[in-house]
Amino acid sequence: MHKHFETEAIRIQTERSQFSEHSTPLYVTSSFVFNDAEEMRASFAEEKERNLYSRFTNPNTTEFVDKIVHMEGAEAGYAFATGMSAIFTSFAALLNAGDHVVSCRSVFGSTHSMFTKFLPKWNIETSYFKVNEVDLVESLIQTNTKILYIETPTNPAVDILDLELIGKIAKKHNLIFIVDNCFATPYIQQPIKFGADLVIHSATKLIDGQGRVLGGVTVGSKDLMQEIYLFARNTGPAMSPFNAWVLSKSLETLAIRVEKHSENALKVAQFLEENEHVELVKYPFLKSHPQYEIAKKQMKIGGNIVAFELKGGIEAGRKFLNHIKMCSLSANLGDTRTIVTHPSSTTHGRLSEKDRLEVGITKGLVRVSVGLENIVDIIADLEQALNA
Ligand SMILES: *Cc1c(COP(=O)(O)O)cnc(C)c1O
Repeated sequence: MHKHFETEAIRIQTERSQFSEHSTPLYVTSSFVFNDAEEMRASFAEEKERNLYSRFTNPNTTEFVDKIVHMEGAEAGYAFATGMSAIFTSFAALLNAGDHVVSCRSVFGSTHSMFTKFLPKWNIETSYFKVNEVDLVESLIQTNTKILYIETPTNPAVDILDLELIGKIAKKHNLIFIVDNCFATPYIQQPIKFGADLVIHSATKLIDGQGRVLGGVTVGSKDLMQEIYLFARNTGPAMSPFNAWVLSKSLETLAIRVEKHSENALKVAQFLEENEHVELVKYPFLKSHPQYEIAKKQMKIGGNIVAFELKGGIEAGRKFLNHIKMCSLSANLGDTRTIVTHPSSTTHGRLSEKDRLEVGITKGLVRVSVGLENIVDIIADLEQALNA
């Protein structure tokens, strides 16, 4: 069964019910019934694979997870209520008190809070390397290091880390290599091919793609996923069947959406590169991107996030946002609607300047999550705001 990506995204489907429905129904049920005592015993003893209780599995979450498992080339997975619950639960399941993590500093804000504020409650410390310090990774590894963690492309500066290189370091030191693949989606990049043991997504972003529901998912090897599954089914961060139903439908159009998002984003990046008010543009598939060769090696296309540096720093950034007419000012990304943010005065405004610079956030940095509106209208809005 090696059908193409788009085909499996559409054709992987939970078994039909007695009504022979074409589209998968929504299974809004907290539990499932048994015919007799023996069936119930065998099911709880896990001699029989079936749904027992929706905190463990549900036909809708299973369908969603099966698709992601297939797309990422993984063996097993589990769906969570949010991206953060996927990240936190995976770490909590695999780590013991006193373990150590090595991570790139450029991680999602709440992931950074988990590393610096919450995991230390259990005496779990994290050592950071910056995107341009991959050569330091080995020197950060300690005898108690268990996980090596990265995101690529990074948020919001759109830097690229070399999955193959970092995968080799993880393997050499017997570390669990975990990649947050949210920005790329499994259509663009499959980290398991480059040595990742686990791949995590916030399904809230491009997987939903329409800004409707929250969700998260972790996929990887059978052994690691079994540990995460047992921890999760007892601690309760499960995705709701409704969100799984929405997200499984969303996956049917992931390939075509991400193609168009990336086509629009490349045009936005090319437009910005030519604009006189723009100092610098970062987009993985622009030749000027410092890690262009690595991006070409591991990514199919460039994704939908473009970062650029305005001439004129913080004031220019705020002014640009104030003159945007059509695009949305919002913290989300990966929506059909183009979203513009100015991290240094909003999402990352509370960080010190030093902390901001460590993750590549300069004062004039603007992040655009390029949507699916007509490209002429997207560029027209950005252009009039740049000129204003
Ligand atoms: C949004 C995001 C998360 C967190 O996901 P939620 O669904 O909001 O909990 C994690 N990682 C990255 C890269 C994200 O963009």
